[in-house]
Amino acid sequence: MSKTVEAETNRPLWELLMLIQEGKEPLELTCEECFILLDYDTDLVRMGAMTDKIQAAIHHHLSICSVCLRKLTEQ
Ligand SMILES: [Zn+2]
Repeated sequence: MSKTVEAETNRPLWELLMLIQEGKEPLELTCEECFILLDYDTDLVRMGAMTDKIQAAIHHHLSICSVCLRKLTEQ
């Protein structure tokens, strides 16, 4: 399994959050967007906010992108 997700135009954080909030299905993220959300997620968790949908989108990306999964597990 070495499938990678093709980099598309990265969306700004506010747009990602809006799409995640509206979406019923996990959002398709680019690799850069995935890490932006991971950074944001860490801040939200610290504040005690609900991050279920954000984490679902991140986990969805990690399930289809071995590159990001490897980056995370190597940290
Ligand atoms: Zn990725």
